[in-house]
Amino acid sequence: MLVVLSTTGALAGEITVQIPGGNEKIGAETFGDIAYFSVSDLAGVLGHRISWDIPGLSAELTVNRHSVVFYINSPYVNLDDTVKNVTFPIEIKRGCIYAPIQTALPIIDVISPERIVWDNDRHLIRVSSEYYTITDMALSEKANGLLIELFVSEPKEFELYQSEGNWLNITIPDATVNSRQLISRKSSTFMRDMNVFQFEASSQISLRLRKPFGKITHRFTANPGRIQISLIDTTAMPVVSAGPDRVVGPDDHIDKVVIDAGHGGRDYGAIGLDGTQEKKIVLDIAKRLAKLIRKEKIFEVVMTRDKDDYVPLDERARIANESGGDVFISIHANASLKRSARGFQVFFLAPALNDEARAAAQLENAVFLSEQTAFGAHEGDDLSMILSDMIQNEFQEESSDFAAMVDREFRKDLSKHTRARGMDQAGFFVLNGVYMPSVLVESAFLTNEQDEKLLKSKDYRQDVAESIYAGLKRFKAKYENK
Ligand SMILES: [Zn+2]
Repeated sequence: MLVVLSTTGALAGEITVQIPGGNEKIGAETFGDIAYFSVSDLAGVLGHRISWDIPGLSAELTVNRHSVVFYINSPYVNLDDTVKNVTFPIEIKRGCIYAPIQTALPIIDVISPERIVWDNDRHLIRVSSEYYTITDMALSEKANGLLIELFVSEPKEFELYQSEGNWLNITIPDATVNSRQLISRKSSTFMRDMNVFQFEASSQISLRLRKPFGKITHRFTANPGRIQISLIDTTAMPVVSAGPDRVVGPDDHIDKVVIDAGHGGRDYGAIGLDGTQEKKIVLDIAKRLAKLIRKEKIFEVVMTRDKDDYVPLDERARIANESGGDVFISIHANASLKRSARGFQVFFLAPALNDEARAAAQLENAVFLSEQTAFGAHEGDDLSMILSDMIQNEFQEESSDFAAMVDREFRKDLSKHTRARGMDQAGFFVLNGVYMPSVLVESAFLTNEQDEKLLKSKDYRQDVAESIYAGLKRFKAKYENK
């Protein structure tokens, strides 16, 4: 905790953030009599991503496809492509970014799916998910047409009408729509164009579909509340299934967790200085996590392996997808030629942005590459090329959000033992084939003496499992309450 001797006495070290499901504390400071909050901490609480563009100079807070860029010592911030003035300069202290509460919080509110307000009387930040009545949209292709689902926070009347050029218009009186979230679901697979309008007395969502649609049916479904509109394609041929239904947007529930213990069998994974095998350590963590989950029965568990078996990476993805998993967690332990390298880290799938993240991915991908080479595929290909070609993951935003939540729990529970290396992105093959939000955790370094000791201790492995589980519950709470 930070202790601040402020002349106003208004803020001493931290402020409360009231979020659905409990209160959290974040860092607060007073600079020149003005109350500031830690943007880094708030991002952590909300599960958003913040990263340095230029370390010590500018940092970017990313929420879905929107961002705010903060410049240290400047009162100007970039909200997507527009410049905003927060009146007082952004500050940095002990590596955390601080912004003035009254003027910067409304800017974060604009890009957040949650409503974020400063309660000046009670001196706390209130976050509520009830800001919008239309919170999200999902589109899924069915054998005989298209299903459009609008997620609503309460039952709503609605009107449908078609207009020239395959436009389908949905009008919902007395509603507020999270336009940014809905627009982020715009997908060229299903539509040519999409507009979202917020009028004073209603919201309108207009979709320009790829082909004329025949019959329309609609209904309201609860848990979660959704307006479901089925466009039945009368020209569709009897089903020729082309794999799983294509889906954009959230599923109804997050209730099945796929736990992937890395390596196994003839693939030992990393080997510690003391001979500790990654495959054994990670299987133990996976089993501890499975036990925690089974005990509380909030989620169902699927394991890609529960004993010392060799399971190829594509087989792991197949198990995950065919089980209908909602979220995927791959558990590993890291290794490095640098014996001083230590700490835990959480990754999600996206092209690696730095050498360390690339190294972690290369290490975990090694088995896949040796298999592929054995069959003559990809021979001579540059690793980074294969990765960048393969990375097409529409769950990137959810995965990044999930990674941030797990990372945050790790920092709470594990950083007293070892270094927090933060979250990062890299191209992991095991995640690439998985059709659901997914993360890969590196629980610590087997090649570091202190870390290897930690990994060999039951307590640390239990802490890792418990932190992952806490992150999982956080993720469920956020995505099911949207
Ligand atoms: Zn591994």
